Amino acid sequence: MIGLMQQRPSSFQSRLAAKAAPPVLSILAKGNAGVLLSTEESSTSPLSDEAAAPAIWLNCIQCGSKIARCNDRIEVNDKHEHTFINPAGVIYRIGCFSASPGAFEVGQASSEFAWFRGYEWRCLCCAVCEVHLGWTFTQSAARFCGLILDQLSEGSADAAR
Ligand SMILES: [Zn+2]
Repeated sequence: MIGLMQQRPSSFQSRLAAKAAPPVLSILAKGNAGVLLSTEESSTSPLSDEAAAPAIWLNCIQCGSKIARCNDRIEVNDKHEHTFINPAGVIYRIGCFSASPGAFEVGQASSEFAWFRGYEWRCLCCAVCEVHLGWTFTQSAARFCGLILDQLSEGSADAAR
């Protein structure tokens, strides 16, 4: 996934050092970001960047509030992004996410015109301005969010609004 050949010798060395770190570290770091990484960070190990990076949020295009984290992107049926057309002929480009903390569900669950077979859907709206942002899709215990990508803009890291 990362081209070692492109590394300069100095960073290649540190990459090797990072690689030599116990694999346990990166696993633990995922669920435990602040704690374990604080010691590791000073060596700027490239392998820990992903877990240590501040969350990048996708914001509501209407009001700018935080809706979902880029890190929560998931693939459903082998794709993150799906394009659907609703019965009224409107085309939606949606991205799949494991969570969307900045949106809330509206209305009853429905299986009519379900885009994902076997899943029921409910509408998702921005928690601040209430604009329609997408849907949640549920199938017994399984649940994910499909957010309309044109309704979101990528924000900067956590410090930004
Ligand atoms: Zn909003």
